[in-house]
Amino acid sequence: MSTPTRRVRVIETVHGKAWPTSVEVPWVCSKCGGPRGEPKEATRQLWTMDHRRRTLTVDDWSNPCGHHESSRDVFAQHAAFVAEEGS
Ligand SMILES: [Zn+2]
Repeated sequence: MSTPTRRVRVIETVHGKAWPTSVEVPWVCSKCGGPRGEPKEATRQLWTMDHRRRTLTVDDWSNPCGHHESSRDVFAQHAAFVAEEGS
């Protein structure tokens, strides 16, 4: 039995810079392990370091369990997933 995975677009922020990236993650809530909702395309308005506005496309979802997950949660889940796959 394996957990289904999905590749989703999220915004990565490092040292105050943000850019879109896609990561593959197990499709379960990172907080309780329950099923996630269906991802939907959404846009985010961001100001870049040089004060230009960018519109980024991301995947957004809400969980039936009610937990809200930030990009940070998704990256942490992705890192754990990659570590597990590599072992
Ligand atoms: Zn949850």
